[in-house]
Amino acid sequence: MRDITAGRHGSGAQLTIDLDAVRENYRRLRRQIDGSVRCAAVVKADAYGLGAVPVSAALHAEGCEDFFVAQLDEGLALRSALPDASIYVLNGVPRGAEHDCSSADLLPVLNSLEQAHDWAEHLRRLGEPHGAVIQIDSGMNRLGLSRREVAGWVEGADRLSVLKVRLVMSHLACADTPQHRANRGQLALFSEAARAFPGLPRSLASSSGIFLGPDFHFDLVRPGVALYGGNPVPSLPNPMRSVVRVFAPVIQVRDANPGDGVGYGWDHRLDRRSRIATVAIGYADGLHRALQGRGAVYADGIALPVLGRVSMDTITVDASAISSDWLTPGSWVEVIGEHQSIDQLAEAMQTSAYEVLTSLGHRYARDYAGAVDPLCSTFSRRVA
Ligand SMILES: *Cc1c(COP(=O)(O)O)cnc(C)c1O
Repeated sequence: MRDITAGRHGSGAQLTIDLDAVRENYRRLRRQIDGSVRCAAVVKADAYGLGAVPVSAALHAEGCEDFFVAQLDEGLALRSALPDASIYVLNGVPRGAEHDCSSADLLPVLNSLEQAHDWAEHLRRLGEPHGAVIQIDSGMNRLGLSRREVAGWVEGADRLSVLKVRLVMSHLACADTPQHRANRGQLALFSEAARAFPGLPRSLASSSGIFLGPDFHFDLVRPGVALYGGNPVPSLPNPMRSVVRVFAPVIQVRDANPGDGVGYGWDHRLDRRSRIATVAIGYADGLHRALQGRGAVYADGIALPVLGRVSMDTITVDASAISSDWLTPGSWVEVIGEHQSIDQLAEAMQTSAYEVLTSLGHRYARDYAGAVDPLCSTFSRRVA
């Protein structure tokens, strides 16, 4: 524990992102699918908070050619780092931004007939063909063409022929629960609806969907969270390697008496004499207030329970189990690592591993282990 001194100033928490582990996870997912199936990477929301540029560069070096972002701006930012890769924009193109999308050679996901007609109109004006993806809603009721819109597409096929559709996709609502009946139902609906677009490559599975078996793989799979170490099948042991480590420094240690209150609102009252360590990480760093009374950090494998409310910049933990000369200001405690996975922290925060990752925030001293291009880690540190 005490040998963790990597924090650049030692004043805040340290986030380490292991890009070798991301690459290893990509290889592990590839082993789940047939060699003829493409494995894309979902790097939306800045690669779930881990840094879209360094993460994508690492995956590109591993052979990944297809990258999904959610928003046009995310795609534009990624394009300069990945000049040749296919970059797909899941939310589609906002009206009026068509030109930015086509000039950066991004592939919009068309989620409605309206988006399809707007994009087709843009391409007609542009006078050159350009790729696109069709999304069909197969039961999630979030994004994609309804069954009626699929029929409308077929009827209006002439007007839409300018679109060079590269992929037909849909998204599963319950893939993390393998026995859920929605999975087979969505598979059947998607297969049926995709027949309206004969000969086009198809895609249905994200991380969890990959583990539902080959019926769900089609021509391209779209993992996100599993690349970043999240467990794609929560009811089974995690087959992925952990990617993220978070350590935070202790900044003060004190003894307090039975009956004393701890933290805002005196939400916690001590029932015995306790040693309290204040750790420099708080809700601004993604430790949700739900950790109060439920969460812990680890010192040398010993759990130090969170006492009282989580503050913006600090938490107070019960360090009574550790001798006073061992845990002192400047000691580092583990928040995410060997003793606490992102899934375990998510459970303590009553949320998902996705939200743990995307909540991490921008205050950490970030370190990228295994960065492909040293510029990437410099760049990401600067923006962090
Ligand atoms: C976010 C997202 C993914 C990736 O999902 P994971 O569960 O993180 O693997 C794939 N496809 C779509 C449409 C998404 O929105």
